[in-house]
Amino acid sequence: MLLLLSLACAQTSIDDGASFGPFTQVKTSFTSAFVATSESGAVLVDAGFQDNGKAVAAFLETQGLTLDDVSDVLITHGHTDHVAGIPAYPNATVWAHENEVELILEEGPEGVSVDETLVDGQIIEAQGFAFEAILVPGHTSGNLVFLSEGVLITGDTAFLYKDGTIGPPSERYSLDPAQTQAELLVLRDRLEPRKDELTAVGFAHTGGLTGDLSAFWEMTEREN
Ligand SMILES: [Zn+2]
Repeated sequence: MLLLLSLACAQTSIDDGASFGPFTQVKTSFTSAFVATSESGAVLVDAGFQDNGKAVAAFLETQGLTLDDVSDVLITHGHTDHVAGIPAYPNATVWAHENEVELILEEGPEGVSVDETLVDGQIIEAQGFAFEAILVPGHTSGNLVFLSEGVLITGDTAFLYKDGTIGPPSERYSLDPAQTQAELLVLRDRLEPRKDELTAVGFAHTGGLTGDLSAFWEMTEREN
């Protein structure tokens, strides 16, 4: 019984280098940045935990790019492990939800700033990719997920667990755990009419889903 319980709660591991449409999940310590590249540069969802951008630099090198070529960093939320890497991208425009700026300044590295703020439903373009910002409050107040090229990048809004279910992070990590759970189901319902559009779902701290997204669509309330 105890073993079953711990299995149900255990999260899957980050699948370093996995592809989600044009995005690659790059493991930076215990979290991830999702990186898409074009011929002229790169765009990131989340900055990663490494203040020198080491893992992202290694990936960019395989694409003939460097950290200087990162033009945009879209931040899901202001927890340290998602924003510590911001200074590693000196030429990047940093985007975040307007309600998240304060937390980024608080948890981010010395001198960090947010260049552009986002609101729910806003669509921006970076490196030829369109990104739709969707507000999913609860984990933090200005917590965003991004939908781009059919890929939903959730940050910490959701985890993929070893029992095959998707659910919110452990309660101790969220500002408002009940809201985090409720808003995750709201997100699923909001995207349901666009089911055909979605091809993959990526999570910052775990492996993701490609192809078969039934675990996302069939998501129910989950004990964490
Ligand atoms: Zn977080």
